[in-house]
Amino acid sequence: MKFKVTFSRKGGREPLIARTVIDTGVLINVERARIESMAGEVLIDVPDADAELVSDTMRKAGARVETIENSVVRDETECIDCGACISICPQDVFYFDENWCLALRQDQCVLCGKCVESCPHGALSIQQ
Ligand code: SF4
Ligand code: SF4
Repeated sequence: MKFKVTFSRKGGREPLIARTVIDTGVLINVERARIESMAGEVLIDVPDADAELVSDTMRKAGARVETIENSVVRDETECIDCGACISICPQDVFYFDENWCLALRQDQCVLCGKCVESCPHGALSIQQ
């Protein structure tokens, strides 16, 4: 399961991810991170079975934790199955199915936004 975790660093520099890994024993995959002097935002992936434990632990530490359900969204009325997004995506999220229609592997998306910029029909958006 993917979570977007937002946290403040005003209270100190306790490393949230490292502390959560130690406290829960769950290995956390950090897929994207933006850390600034006073705040941070990370996209993490954790095993479904451990999702509640990890999210509760982070919330208790003061972080805001949001579940990412559909990372990238395709507007089927706009998509023309041109395939431009297939080559641009670094995570191989997009592929053609047996009918040469665009299909998605949502769980591989890291919300980088490259596909949104590359789609000639404005058919893609990402969950912020
Ligand atoms: S780039 Fe846009 S129009 Fe082309 S296949 Fe991808 S989503 Fe569809
Ligand atoms: S946001 Fe990035 S990782 Fe996700 S589908 Fe688009 S290009 Fe791929």
